[in-house]
Amino acid sequence: MAIGRSEVAIIGGGVVGLSVAFGLLQAGRRVTVLDGADGDFRASQGNFGLVWLQGKGADFAPYAEWTGDAVAAWPRFAEMVEQISGINLALAQSGGFEFFTNVPELEDFKAALERQQTHLGNRFSYEIVSGDDLRRSFPGIGPGVAGASFCARDGHVNPLRLLRALRGAVSALGGRLITDARVNEIKAAKGGGFDLSLQGGKSHSAERVVLCAGLGITSLAAQLGFVTRVRPQRGELLITEKLADRLPFLSSTIRQVDEGGVQIGGTKAEAGLDDSETLGVMAELARHAVTVFPALADVRVVRAWGALRVLSPDGFPVYARSPRHPGAFLVTCHSGVTLAPLHATTLANWIDDTSNAPDLEAFDENRFTLSDAA
Ligand SMILES: Cc1cc2nc3c(=O)[nH]c(=O)nc-3n(C[C@H](O)[C@H](O)[C@H](O)COP(=O)(O)OP(=O)(O)OC[C@H]3O[C@@H](n4cnc5c(N)ncnc54)[C@H](O)[C@@H]3O)c2cc1C
Repeated sequence: MAIGRSEVAIIGGGVVGLSVAFGLLQAGRRVTVLDGADGDFRASQGNFGLVWLQGKGADFAPYAEWTGDAVAAWPRFAEMVEQISGINLALAQSGGFEFFTNVPELEDFKAALERQQTHLGNRFSYEIVSGDDLRRSFPGIGPGVAGASFCARDGHVNPLRLLRALRGAVSALGGRLITDARVNEIKAAKGGGFDLSLQGGKSHSAERVVLCAGLGITSLAAQLGFVTRVRPQRGELLITEKLADRLPFLSSTIRQVDEGGVQIGGTKAEAGLDDSETLGVMAELARHAVTVFPALADVRVVRAWGALRVLSPDGFPVYARSPRHPGAFLVTCHSGVTLAPLHATTLANWIDDTSNAPDLEAFDENRFTLSDAA
């Protein structure tokens, strides 16, 4: 059964695919988003919601700059999405901490921040705060915290509301969002464009396709001649009961969501396609939270979950045009929440190849073939 034809088909309706769809719709394209099944791995539904700059791209200047631009673009982007969708994203960008219990690790991170600053100049600043100074500013910080870094540009949003708002905005802008629409095969059509075969015998055709299928990207990428392969990395998270008191800080591992619960996360595990939560990691997360802020010891954890990050071979975003099939694009990244404002605006210019398109050469997938050859 044919389910229509579009100018641009976006494959994958997570935060990346929806952001790209948002930008292309704003540019006047006719867009269909084909999203897979509820049982798929979906980083966009299990992430930590940070809009985060510190530490990003310390050793890769284009990523430091791209992330800096994204963080700067967030307020305007949030305003646009909120206006179109009517959903409040709970964006707060009033600065965030990285806490350390160990001085050598803090020193290493400080060195990374110095490298990041050489890339960003006066667009980035940070402070290193000793444990004692932290405790003077926030008396609830535990004695085990050796120090922290602080970046005034860091922040967070409600990631589930971001996803819902993007879905609403894509529909409101005239996009078509089809769920339970797993694409199995993509072929270049004889007269130009692409024929897509979907699970359940359905088909769709499109003049251009953008692969944004998260961990589902690999098999589709190969069909279009892309060399990018992605791998999963598991993160686990806890959330506590809602607290009436506000946590006095935001950190990369502990944050209070706008609804009141405290979310604790930041773990990384190579566990293949297994997104289950584990007791040992849950205990480790709880211990970390109580070390940083001992008052959390009395707070009940109400839910724990695991989710899989989508990582390219070097962990940086990939923005690639198919060398074999003009009109086919691949977009994948970690930190898709942080980068959403650029995916939803200037990336459309790159896909449309307009004169004001950003230079994304540094993020092309040829870096993988070049490094393989080296
Ligand atoms: C634990 C954790 C914490 C994180 N914390 C942060 C954070 O604080 N800040 C931040 O910026 N980022 C964070 N991230 C990263 C962020 O969540 C991801 O970068 C982002 O969600 C990736 O979005 P995506 O759309 O590429 O992938 P996904 O959300 O995985 O979506 C992919 C979509 O593609 C669909 N799909 C797959 N295969 C097919 C197919 N064949 N046909 C059609 N559809 C298909 C799936 O159904 C799915 O809906 C975190 C991630 C994790 C796991």
